[in-house]
Amino acid sequence: MRYISTRGTAPILDFQAVTLTGLASDGGLYMPESWPTLSTEQIAKMRGMSYVDTAVEVMAPFVEGTLTRDDLRTLCTEAYGRFSHAAVTPLVQLDGTHWLLELFHGPTLAFKDVALQLLGLLFERFLSGTNKHLTVVGATSGDTGSAAIDALAGRAGVDVFMLHPKGRVSDVQRRQMTTVLAPNIHNIALEGASFDDCQALVKAMFNSRDFAGRFALSAVNSINWARLMAQVVYYFYAAVRLGAPERPVAFSVPTGNFGDVFAGYVAAKMGLPIAKLIVATNVNDILHRALSQGDYSQGTVIPTPAPSMDIQVSSNFERLLFDLGGRDGNALAAQMHGFEASKAMRLTNAQRDGGASLLHSDRIDLDDMALAMRWACDGTGQVIDPHTAIALAAARRAELGDMPIVTLATAHPAKFGDAVERATGMRPALPARIGDLFDREERYASLPGTFEAVTGYIAERAVPSA
Ligand SMILES: *Cc1c(COP(=O)(O)O)cnc(C)c1O
Repeated sequence: MRYISTRGTAPILDFQAVTLTGLASDGGLYMPESWPTLSTEQIAKMRGMSYVDTAVEVMAPFVEGTLTRDDLRTLCTEAYGRFSHAAVTPLVQLDGTHWLLELFHGPTLAFKDVALQLLGLLFERFLSGTNKHLTVVGATSGDTGSAAIDALAGRAGVDVFMLHPKGRVSDVQRRQMTTVLAPNIHNIALEGASFDDCQALVKAMFNSRDFAGRFALSAVNSINWARLMAQVVYYFYAAVRLGAPERPVAFSVPTGNFGDVFAGYVAAKMGLPIAKLIVATNVNDILHRALSQGDYSQGTVIPTPAPSMDIQVSSNFERLLFDLGGRDGNALAAQMHGFEASKAMRLTNAQRDGGASLLHSDRIDLDDMALAMRWACDGTGQVIDPHTAIALAAARRAELGDMPIVTLATAHPAKFGDAVERATGMRPALPARIGDLFDREERYASLPGTFEAVTGYIAERAVPSA
């Protein structure tokens, strides 16, 4: 499989190179050159398969030329062996049509572990035997940071610099990052910054010839293709358990950076019969405005109890626009440059029409989020986190008849204990594996949110590229 940039001019890469890179050199994001498809028979065979076997079937076409199926199986067995549930991502039934897909049984209790546990092993494999040293720079609204840090702490050949908006991640999220004291982990709290500010700084580092030229920069945000690839797996895993390929299934996805829901789009492109993909946003609704009205214009971020969705610029949306717009890199580059200059753009008719039959978006406010948490708790006995609640609220509002709807449960409720307690009166306990989180020592730097401050800090500590 070969990978091309959404902006048309960066070099074409293979899977290994695309995994180790971040942003493409033309500012775009890497995408497979074409979508591999799985036949109805191949999908039907997944019905009784374990998570790891499903993962091998789904990911093999994307790693072709770099990893064999046996290599892939070994890596997946190790990555998913670290999950605390035997099914890795179990389905839980809520009522006649609604299901939760619990994606939070990994080490840091959010769905980001599904991709990052594998990505950590891919990095290790691709770096071993080389003298390459990677400098991972990332921005996090909370969950990516902890998942990446857990996956990369103590690994040879990698330093991680993780930026989070100071005071805007939950205490559990912050401590999951800052209590990892491995010397290759560097946490940076950006003063007065939002997640979008952190993300913009990371993008600026990749785009700075001077800085990017001195270090082998790498990304663990969902701009990294391998992350999205790993997330395609659970759409297949869940859908075949609910009757696919014969019976179509809908998914509702709490969306921030459009990574998780884009993985669902990829699953549909590969032949999985997904009838609807519900793009659920909170009041930071740029994606809902874009998909329902064609208006992709950046507002100011409003902090909410679902911080991983407090995003106004969704990096992976560019991948969707590229694919829906006929994969014209030049046209997309011009459109994105327009957006970067004016912070607003209109979707083209092709981009709007192309997504219309599959994608449905909704915006869920704080009241509806709290109502969904209460409905799940009182009506079904399930305590859910604020992000999951937003997707569940959107799923319950979508009128899809008796089709099964799977809501992606993206975080363990204990990660957002205060918000859950406010809505339901129940305080979810931290699982035993992180029960002592509040007794551990924390370490992080607080920096002003400027390019100079952050790159200066990193340059003093990172290993220059050879
Ligand atoms: C990251 C995250 C999201 C948003 O996922 P995207 O891939 O950025 O759209 C939703 N919920 C939780 C709990 C997350 O950590």
